[in-house]
Amino acid sequence: MLEILRNIVQEVNTAETLPAALEIIVQRVRDAMGTEVCTVYMHDPETNRFVFEATEGLNKSLVGKISMAAGEGLVGRVAEREEPLNLEVATAHRSFRLLEGIGEEPFSAFLGVPIIHRREVLGVLVVQQQEKRRFDESDEAFLVTMSAQLAGVIAHARVTGAVSGANSGAGAGGVPTKIAGIAGAPGIAIGRAVVVSPVADLYAVPQRRAQDRRAELRAFKLALRSVRKDIEQVAEKLGTQLNPEEHALFDVYLRILDDATIGTEVASRIKAGQWAQGALSEVMIQHIKHFERMEQSYLRERAVDVKDLGTRVLAYLQSTDTERQEFPEASILVGEELTASVLGEIPREKLVGIISVKGSGNSHVAILARAMGVPTVMGAVDLPYTRLEDQELIIDGYYGEVHMNPDAAIRRRFAGILADDQAISEELESLRDVACETTDGKRLPLWVNTGLMADVARSLDQGAEGVGLYRTEVPFLLRERFPSEEEQRQIYRSQLEAFAPLPVTMRTLDIGGDKALPYFPIEEENPFLGWRGIRVTLDHPEIFLVQVRAMLKASEGLDNLRIMLPMISNVAELDEAMEFIRRAYREVLEEGSVVKMPPVGVMVEVPAAVYQARALARKVDFLSVGSNDLTQYLLAVDRNNARVADLYHAYHPAVLQALQAVADAAHAEGKLVGICGELAGDPGAAVLLLAMGYDVLSMNATNLTRVKKAIRNLNMETARTALAQAMLLESSDEVHEHLAGVLAENGLQSFIHPRLD
Ligand code: PEP
Ligand code: MG
Repeated sequence: MLEILRNIVQEVNTAETLPAALEIIVQRVRDAMGTEVCTVYMHDPETNRFVFEATEGLNKSLVGKISMAAGEGLVGRVAEREEPLNLEVATAHRSFRLLEGIGEEPFSAFLGVPIIHRREVLGVLVVQQQEKRRFDESDEAFLVTMSAQLAGVIAHARVTGAVSGANSGAGAGGVPTKIAGIAGAPGIAIGRAVVVSPVADLYAVPQRRAQDRRAELRAFKLALRSVRKDIEQVAEKLGTQLNPEEHALFDVYLRILDDATIGTEVASRIKAGQWAQGALSEVMIQHIKHFERMEQSYLRERAVDVKDLGTRVLAYLQSTDTERQEFPEASILVGEELTASVLGEIPREKLVGIISVKGSGNSHVAILARAMGVPTVMGAVDLPYTRLEDQELIIDGYYGEVHMNPDAAIRRRFAGILADDQAISEELESLRDVACETTDGKRLPLWVNTGLMADVARSLDQGAEGVGLYRTEVPFLLRERFPSEEEQRQIYRSQLEAFAPLPVTMRTLDIGGDKALPYFPIEEENPFLGWRGIRVTLDHPEIFLVQVRAMLKASEGLDNLRIMLPMISNVAELDEAMEFIRRAYREVLEEGSVVKMPPVGVMVEVPAAVYQARALARKVDFLSVGSNDLTQYLLAVDRNNARVADLYHAYHPAVLQALQAVADAAHAEGKLVGICGELAGDPGAAVLLLAMGYDVLSMNATNLTRVKKAIRNLNMETARTALAQAMLLESSDEVHEHLAGVLAENGLQSFIHPRLD
C-alpha cells in the first residue's frame, strides 16, 4: 500500500501543470482502488464553487464547465464538513444533487474526501462505483492518506500552473499571481529575479536563455567527456576489487553516457535557446521519470544511476559556468534555501530584494537582510523559483508576499508605497542625532546588532549609541576556513575602532542550529536542540581561546569591548567559559598587551536561563535577552520552519512574562539588562520593554529611528499603563491589537503597517 501511495505521489510531483497533476491523480487512484470512477473537484476562491476539474469514468467533455456551490450536493457537503463521506447509495442522501450531463446516474456507491492544505479546503476527491456497497475502512483510510499527501502537491501545482502560462507567453502577459510567504525584512522591492541554485541539484536548475549557444554546446560536450573519463578512471582504479556485477554497473553508466538520445536531446534544446544546465536538467529529469515508472524493480533502480550521472555532468557545467557576468540594476535574489553567505553574491547597490523558499522571518538570512535594509520574503514554499530567472517580481516585505507577473495597476500601487516609505525614512532621518528619551525625560539607549562590515556605516548613520550584539559568526560564515587569531584580531579591531568610545558587545562564536560553517559541518537530527553556541566552543577550547584572545588584543587602547556568551543553559557552562576568558586574559597580558578585563555578560535565550537568571546575573556584569531563540524555545516553535511560522509569536504572553522576570532578576542583583533579539526593534514592543525596566535595546540599524520616534512620543506613565494592560492579556493577537492601539493613540499610526510577530 505504502509503495502504491509513494509511487502516485512521486508521479504527481513531476507534473508540470495542475491539469496534468489532476489527470494523473484520477487515473492512478482509480486503478489503485479498483473503482469505476475517480473525480477531483477543485475549489475556485473567486466564485467559492467546486469545479469539476478532472475525471476518469464520468463525462470528460464537461471538465472545467460545471461546478457546485460550497455546501451544495455531496461534494459541497464533504468540503463544508471537512470530513469523508462514505455512502452505499449516493442518491438516497438528502444532500444528493445530480449535475446535468455528468453521467453519474449508473453509480451508486460514493466515497468523497476533502483535500486540505494548511487548513484550506482545496477540493474534493471522489471515487464511485456501480455496485451498491459501502467502501470499507481500508478504502476510506487509503483515500484520506492519499488526499493528505496530495494536498501539498496540488497547492504547489496550482501556483506552478499559473507560472508555466507566463513562461509560454515569454514572460509577458502572464496572469498576475500572488504567493504567500513570511515577512522577512520590511519594505517593498520591485526588480528582476536572479535565481541562485544549490550546486549539483538537477531539480533546482533555473531556466535561462543561452547567451552564446555554441559556447553552451561546447561546454556540454566537454562536461560529458570529463564525466566519462572520471568513470573510466574509477573503474580502472577499483579494478580487481570489484566483482563482475559491480563492474557491470560501470558499464551501465558508460552506456547511458554514450546514449545518443540523451546527448542529442540536450543538444537540440540548447540549439533552441536553452542554456546547457537547463537543457541537461530537463532531459535528465524526463529520463529519470521514465525509469521511475518502470514496472520491473531492476529497471526502476536505474533511475538512481541516471540521476547520479546527470548530477555529475551538471557539476562540471557549473564549475565552468561563465554565463553570468551582469546583474540587473534592481536584482531580487531568489533561492530555495538562501544562506547568509549567498548575500554576498550580488553587489549591494544592485540588490533590492530577497526571496527564500525555505526558512522563516527569524532565520539568520532574514536577520541579516533586515540589518542591510533589504526587503525580504521567507518561506515562499509555493514559489516555482527555478522558472523565475529574469522575471519581474514585486516583494511586499511587510506582509510577506511575492507578486509574479504584476500588471500596471499592481506596479503602480507598490511604486506608491515605495515612495511613501522613502518619505517616512527621510523624516525619520532627522531623529538621528537627538536622544532617545520619553517626553518626561527617561533615557533609553538604543544600540545596534551588527555582523557585516556594511552594518557599521549604516549603524553610525542612524545614530546608534553602541553595539549590543556583534554576531562574530558572520565573518566566520563568509570564509573557507577558521580565521586565524591575527585575522580575527583585525576584523574585531575594525568594529571596535569604528564605534569607539561607544561600547561594542561581541558575542562568542554561535554556530550550530541553522548556522553551519561550510568547513565545519555539523550533521544533526535536531540541530536547534543540539550542539550549538557555547556547547560547541566549550568542547573546542582551541577555537574559543583563540577567539577571546583576538577580541582582547583588538581592544588594546580602546577598552570598549564587552564579551557575551550565547546559549547558556546552566551555571556550569558559565563557570567554564569564565575560566577560559580569564585564562585568555592572563595570556594576552603575559604577551605584553595592555588591556582591561572587559565586562562579560550572558545571553538569556533558553527557558532554563530565565529561571536561573539571578544565579547567572550574580556571576557576570550584564544579561542580554536573545528573544529570537527564547521565543523559539519557550513556544517550541522552530524559528526556521515556515510551516509553524504562524505559531511563532514574540508577543506571546508567556514570552512577555519571561522578559519581565529576566529584567527583575538582573536588577535584583544590581546588574544591567538588555535585549538584542528582533523584538527590541519593534516600536510597540519597545514601549513594553521600556516599562519593564530594560536598560538598553539592541536592534538592527533599520529600525533604530522608528523605535526612537515611538519612545520620544510618549511618557513613562503611558508606557507603564500599556505594560500593565498587556500583562493581563491572554493571547498574542490581543497583545498585538493592544499595542497597535497604543501606537495609534500616540500619533504613530504609520508604524502599525508592518507586523513583526
Ligand atoms: C536571539 O536569539 O535573539 C539572538 C539575538 O541571537 P541569534 O538571532 O543570532 O540567534
Ligand atoms: Mg540566539
